[in-house]
Order: sequence, then C-alpha cells, then structure tokens
Amino acid sequence: MQYDYLIVGSGLMGATFAYLAHHAGKRCLVVERRAHTGGNVHCQEVAGIQVHQYGAHILHTNNREVWQFVNGIAECNRYTNSPVANYQGKLYNLPFNMNTFYQMWGVTTPLQARRKIEEQRSEAIRKLDGREPANLEEQALALVGKDIFERLIKGYTEKQWGRSCNELPAFIIRRLPLRFVFDNNYFNDSYQGIPIGGYNRLIDRLLQDIEVRLKTDFLEHKQELDTLADKVLYTGPLDAYFDYRLGHLQYRTVRFETEVLETPNYQGNAVVNYTDRDVPYTRIIEHKHFEQFGPAVYDNPQTVISKEYSMEWMPGMEPYYPVNDEKNSALLREYQTLAAKEENVIFAGRLAEYKYYDMAPTIERAMQLWSKEEA
Ligand code: FAD
Repeated sequence: MQYDYLIVGSGLMGATFAYLAHHAGKRCLVVERRAHTGGNVHCQEVAGIQVHQYGAHILHTNNREVWQFVNGIAECNRYTNSPVANYQGKLYNLPFNMNTFYQMWGVTTPLQARRKIEEQRSEAIRKLDGREPANLEEQALALVGKDIFERLIKGYTEKQWGRSCNELPAFIIRRLPLRFVFDNNYFNDSYQGIPIGGYNRLIDRLLQDIEVRLKTDFLEHKQELDTLADKVLYTGPLDAYFDYRLGHLQYRTVRFETEVLETPNYQGNAVVNYTDRDVPYTRIIEHKHFEQFGPAVYDNPQTVISKEYSMEWMPGMEPYYPVNDEKNSALLREYQTLAAKEENVIFAGRLAEYKYYDMAPTIERAMQLWSKEEA
C-alpha cells in the first residue's frame, strides 16, 4: 500500500490525527471535499480581518495538554469571551452574573439578586404544583424565573430551534448557571484564546509536509482511494458513508450574512446575541474583536460583521448541530452498528460520530485515537 492512513476530511480531527501519525513516521494522505482545509474552523481574510467563515470559534479548555499542543504549533492570544445580549435595544451582560442582575433589576448585592431570583423561581415552582417541568419553558422558569427567561432565553432559544419553548423538551436546559459575582467571562475554563493570525495558521502547520488533495470527495472516489491505504480515518457524515441507506440524520444549520462596514468599530464586542424573537438573526459577530483589543481596534478603518440565522437543515446544506432527539438517536445507533462492521475504518469527529464536539475535545479525541493506534 502507498499510505498507512487515508484521512478523509481536513478539519481539526483529521488534521490533528494526520499530524500525530505523520510525526510518528506514518505515510498519510488527506482528502478534503472542500476547496480549503480546516473544516469549520477555516478563516477567510476579508478587509485584513480573519473572518470565521463557518461561525465564530473560540478555543477553550481545562486540558493543559491540549492547550500546550495547540500553542506549540500556533500560539494563541488571550481572547476572553464576554458576549452581550441585546433585548429590545437594552443590553445585558452574559453569562448571567451580577452585572446582568444589576442591568435587569438594579440590584447591587448578591443577596438582593438571590432574593429577586428566588421570588421569581418560587412563583414558577408553585405553578408546577409538584409535577416535573413538561417542557423547556417550564424548566427554565423554575430555574431562573420569568424576567431572565423572557428577556434572555425565550426568543433566542426559539430562534435556535425553530420551535416555541413550550414545545421543546425540558432536558435541553438541565442547568442555567447563575454567578453571584461581577464576572462576564463566559467560560469557566483555565485556558481560552484564538490562534494569532487565525485558525488557518494552526491547520496549515498541522498539515505541513503531508499530502493533501483538495476538492476530492472520498465517497465519489471510494473504490480507488480505498486501495491506497491500510487504514481510513473517516471524519465525514456517518449517514453519507452508508449512502443514507437508513435515512438522513438531521441537523440544525446556520446561515451567515457577512458584510464589510466602513466603520472601525460596529458593536464594541465580538459577540452580541439578539434575544428578542422579532429580530430574525440570533447573533451578530464582529470578527476583528477576536484578535484586536483596546485601541488597536481603530487601526483598521473597516470592520466585518456576520449575522447568524439559525435554520432547519435540508440535504445539501452544511450540517452543523446534531439533533439529539429520540428519532435521530435511534437512527444513529443503527448506523453505528453498520460502522462497527467496517474493517480498517475509524469513524471520528463531529460528523462521523454525529455528536457536537467543541474544538478542544476534538483534539483530545484525535490524540486518544492516535495513542490507541500506536499501542
Ligand atoms: P469538521 O470541521 O466539520 O471537518 C470535517 C471535514 O471533513 C470538513 O472539512 C468536510 O469538508 C470534510 N468532509 C466531509 N465529508 C467528506 C468527504 N466525503 N470527502 C472528503 N472530505 C469530506 N468549538 C469550540 O471549541 N468553540 C467554538 O466557539 C465553536 N463554535 C462553533 C460554531 C459553529 C457554528 C459550529 C458548527 C461548531 C463550532 N465549534 C466550536 C465546534 C468545532 O467546529 C468542531 O469541534 C470542529 O470543527 C470539529 O472538527 P471535525 O474535524 O470533527 O469536523
């Protein structure tokens, strides 16, 4: 065989696995359907700004090994994610913390904030009259009360899922963390940031000296490609591998509307969520704030924003978020049974496992898979 590994897909899973195998002396071939590498972390430079073309990506983790691995390849900046919510023109800090509670009720101490939330929660819990919450709306009301739910959760969630909160299952929101400190840092992780110069730098270095064939769909050339390598790492959609013979796994997707604006600073923050149902988009991302901080924001007279519209996925669209309901979970199990019978094929990554993975867990999984291969 010409190669030890044929790696299908050059996203973080494929690129990390290829890097590890290559550095262990294995011969790797990467095939990528798109015209560029990197999968969904791919960036496009627009007006001198790294635009996260498939949605905003912030690397965050508590895993020191993963953080050091990434930084050893492409150094990351210290970007701290502090999204803001805009509800009917009024701004609230996220995640829910003392700043949010002050903006919502004018309360200035943790005790006042706790009392206010307890008052609102107890009203919702009383209405339940001892029964379990039957839907997401009842669940959220019992966790955080009416004001936070109506202003910051309801509209956003309904746009994300395309359904009313009282039709969505309660399990989607198991916890809604509330912070009784003035802290707008969205993630609790020790490490967070973005590769300086964008994600392409990370991916290019992971794939350095490895043969990559772009615009090559593995499934269209499967017969020929299968003869080239001992083993396949497949990171494409699981159902596509089996030609959808049992049906389509469903996803939610996002449509992006990206514009270059002739202003240096449009919204003063990378992420602004629009939590009102009447605004059709869920968020506006202003990309320069991921890499330019403080006065440096004004170095570039232009800015690039992306409005995100959450949508039902249809075949042919980019599959983003798996729908982990009973129907899709059952179909997934059937496909997994078929996958287990495929010899010398490893199915890994967010599409092949039909599982939402953040970037750090994706890298961690690639490392685990490689350790297993090496053993
Ligand atoms: P992908 O990046 O999807 O890569 C799979 C690759 O396989 C693609 O390039 C695809 O073209 C290729 N492929 C598929 N089929 C074939 C085929 N038949 N032949 C050849 N090639 C094929 N994570 C975070 O940690 N922080 C964030 O802020 C964050 N934001 C996100 C926002 C959005 C909108 C989305 C959807 C995800 C976000 N993620 C985030 C998750 C992150 O994108 C994933 O963890 C990561 O991209 C997973 O990498 P992957 O290689 O498994 O998949």
